[in-house]
Amino acid sequence: MPQSRAGGFLNLYEYMGKQIFSKFGIPVPEGYVIHGPEEVRSMDKDVVVKSQILIGGRGKAGGIKFASNIDEARAAASTLLGTKIRGYSVNTLLVEEKLSIAKEYYVSISLNRTERKPLVMASVAGGVEIESVDPKKIATRIIDPLTGYSDYVGRELTGQLGLVPEEASQFRNFLKRLYEVFEAEDCELVEINPLVVTSSGKMVAADAKVVIDTDSLFKHTEYNVTDPEKTTLELEAQGKGYSFVEMDGDIGVIANGAGLTMATLDALTLHRGKPRNFLDLGGTDSVDTVVNAFELVMKANPKVILVNIFGGVTKCDTVATGITTAKTRLSIGKPIVVRLSGVREVEGREILQKDGIQAFSQMMPAIEAVVKAAGVN
Ligand code: GDP
Ligand code: MN
Repeated sequence: MPQSRAGGFLNLYEYMGKQIFSKFGIPVPEGYVIHGPEEVRSMDKDVVVKSQILIGGRGKAGGIKFASNIDEARAAASTLLGTKIRGYSVNTLLVEEKLSIAKEYYVSISLNRTERKPLVMASVAGGVEIESVDPKKIATRIIDPLTGYSDYVGRELTGQLGLVPEEASQFRNFLKRLYEVFEAEDCELVEINPLVVTSSGKMVAADAKVVIDTDSLFKHTEYNVTDPEKTTLELEAQGKGYSFVEMDGDIGVIANGAGLTMATLDALTLHRGKPRNFLDLGGTDSVDTVVNAFELVMKANPKVILVNIFGGVTKCDTVATGITTAKTRLSIGKPIVVRLSGVREVEGREILQKDGIQAFSQMMPAIEAVVKAAGVN
């Protein structure tokens, strides 16, 4: 898995960030990715061997090594691969030409929550964590997403930072393209630290941090996000838009709303029932959503199924039709216990009754009934 997911953010590895930068015309060092020391290529320049782990401060933590020949580079690779740095396993390395660094600058664009707009931050005090830089040395500008990046922003910033003309023009180019990355890739953050000025005066992105908003991932299938913690069925459910978690019990659960679903699991557990899954229908008024939910739960092969609905946006009669449709279409022979309460409850109960399914209006009797049906005594 080439990335980690946490709470709506997808944090890309440095090498992936640099691939994106490169695609958008941002200068990055020449380099390649390896997984074993034998993959180090012959070289005529010094290289830097960089651990691909999702933390900053890799330099200080010993995750970055320099080498002047292939033997040194291989040795560096063997030392780094398989180790853990601050708890993160090193499985991948980026081998790059070593830059001859004259200056280290900082530039980032992040989504500012207060302004609800992209925020550019730039500093000539780069190469260290931005949190440790004197705020007076950081130039900031809010960008209006409707107009996007305009060159005056770059001109103001380079003026404030006091860059010499050759640097200023390169910096503006970086900023313009970085904004393109930020926008096109739906980023929460793009950061270059350090933005290196080489001894020959060329600006290069020596590091890359790209964080993507996971709500946009449907547009970015190239990231092919797969979470190794997720089961095949959970991935299938995710693809169909359900919040679904497999558990090791035998009572299949379909409820609406994350809160009610959690409460259902708690109530089952309290009555010594063992849930097979968490499935939140969400707010839906579609029969198909219910039928597809049944299909997922049936694949988990529970002993019994509990449907717990508090009708609102999700109407009880729609759910009832979904239940009877699923029962026929998927030839479900297992006990289905239903609780319906709220919008169109009476209509829902009628639909179920015709199919011989009794629907409770209170949650606790339904919990007790399903636990009993599952054979808990
Ligand atoms: P981080 O510590 O995880 O943010 O990793 P960086 O990629 O930012 O590298 C940390 C530091 O290593 C940089 O600030 C540089 O001082 C140094 N470094 C990284 N790449 C090079 C390089 O190509 N040449 C030189 N001389 N130093 C480098
Ligand atoms: Mn860095």
